[in-house]
Amino acid sequence: MERLFRQAIQNPAKVAIVDQSKAYSYGELMTSATRIATFLLGEKSDLNEARVGFMVSPGFDYVAVQWGIWMAGGIAVPLCITYPFPSLQYVIEDTGADIILVGPEYEEILHPYSDYSKIRFIRLSAGIATTEPRTLPQINPNRGAMILYTSGTTSLPKGVLTTHGTIESQISTLIEAWKWSSEDYTVCLLPLHHVHGIINVVCCSLWAGATVEFIHPFDAKQVFETFMEGKVNVFMAVPTIYFKLISQFESESSERKSAISARLNQFRLMVSGSAALPVSVMEKWQQISGHYLLERYGMTEIGMAISNPYDGERKAGYIGKPLPGVEIRLVDEQNVEVPFGEPGEIQVKGPSVFKEYWGKPTATANAFTADGWFMTGDIAVVEQEYFRILGRDSVDIIKSGGYKISALEIEEVLRTHPAIKDCGVVGLPDEEWGELVAAALVSDHALDTKELTTWLRERIPAYKTPRKYLLLDELPRNAMGKVVKNDLKNLF
Ligand code: ATP
Ligand code: MG
Repeated sequence: MERLFRQAIQNPAKVAIVDQSKAYSYGELMTSATRIATFLLGEKSDLNEARVGFMVSPGFDYVAVQWGIWMAGGIAVPLCITYPFPSLQYVIEDTGADIILVGPEYEEILHPYSDYSKIRFIRLSAGIATTEPRTLPQINPNRGAMILYTSGTTSLPKGVLTTHGTIESQISTLIEAWKWSSEDYTVCLLPLHHVHGIINVVCCSLWAGATVEFIHPFDAKQVFETFMEGKVNVFMAVPTIYFKLISQFESESSERKSAISARLNQFRLMVSGSAALPVSVMEKWQQISGHYLLERYGMTEIGMAISNPYDGERKAGYIGKPLPGVEIRLVDEQNVEVPFGEPGEIQVKGPSVFKEYWGKPTATANAFTADGWFMTGDIAVVEQEYFRILGRDSVDIIKSGGYKISALEIEEVLRTHPAIKDCGVVGLPDEEWGELVAAALVSDHALDTKELTTWLRERIPAYKTPRKYLLLDELPRNAMGKVVKNDLKNLF
């Protein structure tokens, strides 16, 4: 990971991180990370692939710990600060982490564990004494670096092991594609135990010698205040965050609105990903900011794989084209490439693809084809060279009466209805049809489903029209703002 640390070594005075309004230089980051690495090597002389858990608030200490673990040759296991104890226990036991660094504010959460003899808990501030300087090991790129858990949208989260080489490839691909430079200044609002936050935002920024400011916890008002300070020029978020920023914007005075719009207009880049970006959100954000959001597609297992172009046309409703160095193909159920224009499963090959699901050799074997393609389980179609996501094979592709129906397409249409604030479409088991299209709706109005059906029939064919509706106050979403469709099905 030397390449990641290069800016820190070359430009020690430059501001790397802003956390709680305090600026930390690259030099300070390097010193702190080295201290943590030295400490860890004192704890365990051979850290080769030892899993080191850490539970720290997003910010300077977080990054210093992450870097320290990498410098010492350990595998970083981030523990999400908002997880309840059983989820933390799952990650700790699944990875077998036996050293855990804990920010003082989180000791309480891990208390049920503290008499657990196998694990050494180290309080971050006090526990890390400066020991004698040590020579840090040379790290082979094939060595394991991090275990991130998938978002758990379709089943229990799986631990994804990436190597130093994988991570370097994931970062360098984005540095080039999105033109990161040391002039950039970004904010991080996302959780750091997912690729989006840690790789796309934090690691890309630091690799480029840019500055990353942490806003934690998320607060839409504060995000605009930070923007108005005039430094931020790169912004990445998930669709639900753009949705919340739009609501915040709408509540501002007209004078403030113009000021915010003028400021947003100066940004260099705005990206959305992790879930499908509704066209309505993209259009509203475009009116507010003057920016056509750059939508991209990625996964914990592969980093970013498909992206709309930095220069060139960004298409609403599309995830773009394969990123340089990432091989992509669309295949049918027999793993045979589909004819151009037909839907198929996205499969991926290349140096950004993960090594294995931690401790799950069968799941790993089942995730790759015999000739080494990773099977994403996501269905897409290519139209005029741009990929469009139809959804996950397991939950978004509804098999009804011999048809394959994309839940995402129906959601897109429903969202254009003036009274519908949010929606989620699922397939429910049905004896006659196999599956039945059902829609959960969020609205401030009393919706007449008969009228809605008539309205829909003018826009989509009968076989795609929902047969069942459910009104909800909000949709079940996970920490990344993705609708958990299996929970939604249960609500019906
Ligand atoms: P789990 O694997 O535990 O069910 P997950 O797949 O949501 O959870 P992640 O690795 O965080 O976990 O998310 C990757 C998935 O997110 C992709 O497989 C895809 O379904 C979805 N995704 C990412 N970007 C986009 C996008 N731009 N449009 C639509 N879907 C996207
Ligand atoms: Mg997944």
